[in-house]
Amino acid sequence: MAKKVAIIGAGVSGLTSIKGCLEEGLEPTCFEQSSDIGGLWRFTEKVEENRASIYNSVVTNSSKEMSCFSDFPMPDHFPNFLHNSKFLEYLRLYAKHFGLLKYIRFKTTVISLEKSQDYTTTGQWTMVTETDGKQESFIFDAVMICTGHQIEAYTPVESFPGFEKFRGNYFHSRNYKNPDGFNGKTVVIIGMGNSAADIAVEICRKAKKVFLSTRGGTWVMSRVYDNGYPWDTIFHTRFNDVIRNSVPWFLLQWMTERKMNQWFSHENYGLLPRNRSLMKEPVFNDDLPSRILCGAVMVKPLIKEFTESSVIFEDGTVEENVDIAIFATGYTVAFPFLDKSVIKVEDNRVPLYKHVFPLHLEKPTLAVIGLIQPLGPIMPTAELQARWATRVFKGLSLLPSESTMVADTTRRNEKRIKWFGTSRSQSIQTDFIEYLDELAALTGAKPNLLTLLLRDPKLALTIFFGPCSPFQFRLMGPGKWAGARNAILTQTQRIIKPTKTRTVGNSSSNALLSLLKILGFLALLVAVFLSIGQR
Ligand code: FAD
Ligand code: NAP
Repeated sequence: MAKKVAIIGAGVSGLTSIKGCLEEGLEPTCFEQSSDIGGLWRFTEKVEENRASIYNSVVTNSSKEMSCFSDFPMPDHFPNFLHNSKFLEYLRLYAKHFGLLKYIRFKTTVISLEKSQDYTTTGQWTMVTETDGKQESFIFDAVMICTGHQIEAYTPVESFPGFEKFRGNYFHSRNYKNPDGFNGKTVVIIGMGNSAADIAVEICRKAKKVFLSTRGGTWVMSRVYDNGYPWDTIFHTRFNDVIRNSVPWFLLQWMTERKMNQWFSHENYGLLPRNRSLMKEPVFNDDLPSRILCGAVMVKPLIKEFTESSVIFEDGTVEENVDIAIFATGYTVAFPFLDKSVIKVEDNRVPLYKHVFPLHLEKPTLAVIGLIQPLGPIMPTAELQARWATRVFKGLSLLPSESTMVADTTRRNEKRIKWFGTSRSQSIQTDFIEYLDELAALTGAKPNLLTLLLRDPKLALTIFFGPCSPFQFRLMGPGKWAGARNAILTQTQRIIKPTKTRTVGNSSSNALLSLLKILGFLALLVAVFLSIGQR
């Protein structure tokens, strides 16, 4: 009999988990507390309890070829970076195409999850749900927690001396919806993540003054990268990854800084990260430098103190008559339905084996999907996590001993601190390609480049030099998809189609292109040998 798997949440992670269960012949039931799919991507005018809330203008900061699921490319006419409504449309197409909706029980909140009475022999879980005030209890063979990590606002008012005296309005970025009501206001935004930057550039068109208060600065990147391609389709190539992992650390820092400062000097714009050696998640904002240049947004250091109507910054400057303070200070990870003995959140960090399995459970029947902040899109990452977890549930992939899992998690955390630092906003940060490959190796879906190079050199070259798009993980192994090769070879067309809405002449010479391809092939050989030598 097929194992019964409960999935909590029907956002990106929940939908792909349902699909993962179906692929492995498991029987999924998904519980979604709201009335629709999409999770964070379903914008509503009102903030809903227990669901992430976004502002009306949110546009993805990862591009469509990188942010789709591996066997379902986005329609070629979709723009490269999608408005939230468009991304939701994609999720609806995905759910419809794979028939996922019939497995979801809407308006049903999971209120408790605990080990069943005979857990030590069966690994089963007892779940209590609530629908319209009515409670129901279930037993499941396995559970996938897909509740996201941007629900509980982190609003550290206590870190700011004098805040209790402040008479202005204040709220968390979770509550921001649109710039209405900011006309003529003086606004201070605390934090320098993507929410802070998005909100600043939007409200500065209406507000009298907008200050961005940052304690550590940040790198700001444009969505538009080399030759106008979406940043992640160039940044996240296997070739670039080999380079990043081969060069000495100091050289990597130098290369990163040089690249980041090509657009504008982060020092002159007051944005230079305090710790430049870290690869913290950048801010993607095409408008911010321009808004700073026009004087519409002013970057300031941390706030030292609030008074009744003003803020005093750490550099001693004072801004009087502040009307609104917005805390764009991130989120707290929480599992309100689960006992701390199962998963304990420490410093906003959740110790999970490869970011998925709790470390101290006797049975591998509980997985957390999507509790991660990769340097690339979360969608293919959550998908591979789900593909791996479902194979573990089936016994097709085995977890190592507890001590090995603990050691791996400790090592991973040390690496995280070295790369991204100890900041709260980086507590679940990971690299991208390496982590995808690690999960793919566990599911048997990691592309074998050497074999491909001999069998299908065109594909191998595209995989190595082109975007590390999700389709690469459907070329071989369980879950293989016949359309993967074509999806990879046509991705550049899908990138260009929505921008080239006026046909113009071809500017590049074919001879030059051929020469570049030959040079690329030679470079691939060198790089493959380099990467083999590293293992
Ligand atoms: P969510 O989308 O938060 O979905 C969780 C679901 O679980 C919700 O539907 C919720 O109602 C349900 N739920 C919660 N608790 C319960 C319960 N107890 N019982 C039943 N149901 C429950 N990532 C990218 O890769 N690219 C981007 O461009 C990008 N842009 C972002 C923009 C913003 C403004 C934010 C805040 C985040 C962005 N992210 C982006 C990260 C984001 O986390 C992921 O894109 C993704 O939406 C996470 O999906 P999820 O399914 O894990 O969580
Ligand atoms: P975030 O990335 O966690 O950033 C929080 C910011 O608040 C950081 O700059 C942090 O500084 C600062 N902060 C926290 N505590 C503070 C304190 N006590 N004093 C001063 N500053 C403090 O949160 P977010 O910006 O809401 O983003 C959450 C996630 O959503 C991210 O993954 C982001 O990429 C994503 N997102 C995407 C988009 C988009 O696609 N357009 C838009 C918004 C958000 P430190 O770094 O120094 O801790």
